Amino acid sequence: MMNHHPTYVEIDIDAFSHNMLQIRSKVGNETGILAMLKADAYGHGLVRLAEEALKNGAAMIGVGNVEEGIKLRENGISSPILVMVGIFEDEVDRVISHNLSVVIYSYRIVEALSNTAEKKGKDVSIHIKIDTGMGRIGIIPDEVVPFLRKVAELKNISIQGILTHFAVAYEKDSRFTDHQISIFKEIVNRLSGEGFHIPLLHCFNSAAIINYQASHFNFNMVRPGIILYGSLPSYDLKGDLDLKPLMTWKTRIAQLKNTPRGKSLSYGRTYFAPRDSIIATIPVGYADGYSRFLSNRAKVIVKGKRVPQVGRICMDMCMIDVTDVPDVKVGDEVILLGKGGEEEITAEEIAGLMGTISYEIYCMIGKRVPRVYVRKGRVE
Ligand SMILES: *Cc1c(COP(=O)(O)O)cnc(C)c1O
Repeated sequence: MMNHHPTYVEIDIDAFSHNMLQIRSKVGNETGILAMLKADAYGHGLVRLAEEALKNGAAMIGVGNVEEGIKLRENGISSPILVMVGIFEDEVDRVISHNLSVVIYSYRIVEALSNTAEKKGKDVSIHIKIDTGMGRIGIIPDEVVPFLRKVAELKNISIQGILTHFAVAYEKDSRFTDHQISIFKEIVNRLSGEGFHIPLLHCFNSAAIINYQASHFNFNMVRPGIILYGSLPSYDLKGDLDLKPLMTWKTRIAQLKNTPRGKSLSYGRTYFAPRDSIIATIPVGYADGYSRFLSNRAKVIVKGKRVPQVGRICMDMCMIDVTDVPDVKVGDEVILLGKGGEEEITAEEIAGLMGTISYEIYCMIGKRVPRVYVRKGRVE
């Protein structure tokens, strides 16, 4: 299919398979992979990446909310899907009719699920979340056993998993994560002492997959997110995984203009040409997720050369200085993120300019920017 949008993101499907294989080889064949595809697969496109994750052996898909789960079902995905953030009572009906599994931290919600499931003659799988130190959703450790005893009384509920989430697994200092792990293990032991047999135990995010060996702890599922997309969870974390970013964000030059030294550009006149320049306008702006915070800071790649973005980034457009690019022409490709020739702009680089993390850069690329999938160098 031809892509007629001047601004789009290419997603490298082979890189995704490669990253899945890297994770598989690290965690081994006995450990299930719960592919974290929340937030539209961190901006990469939920449905398509779910299909690829399952082809590459993912056991389950993690989504950010019920709507994402339903979108997968409506697109023919029949694998287990786990709604990671929990649900509200008015979502119970839709969860059951679409056969979604849910993370649970509230008895009221399980009760509502049980009542509706019984009426519909269905079963619901739940995963119980324990707060071992993240301080976000989850049951506090002392309440886990009584909670499970109560839940076990409810009809049409299947306790399929328990999980916890790490706050600082990316840090070199592992003490807090070790502490979280030991609380989780203690709960797992206590539960089996009470006669509960919970099939799935999971707590490893990307950082823990890199820093620990899941098999050492008998946790039988892992939850990779950012490493699926080829980024590391933090700058200073160096793992043994060989990861490839999936995204190349592209646009084209719309206009070229000779700009005399001293002329100002864009809103606010924050940039004055320091020399006689060739300035190109490109059709990408903050409405596409090219943040205004990047104004006069970001670099882009044109014909294998790194060049600066100049002047305030507008809603739908911005300018770049292409004076040093030989034979530059209207229609030439501009790379905002990803590789171009020998050069590369990483999500980490852009994140560094904005004081944030690669996760946010992937998620902020706008909905109106089409995602185009590439396999073996060919657009599909
Ligand atoms: C997002 C998320 C993950 C994945 O985190 P990464 O750092 O991207 O690997 C795992 N578990 C839970 C509960 C999450 O919300």
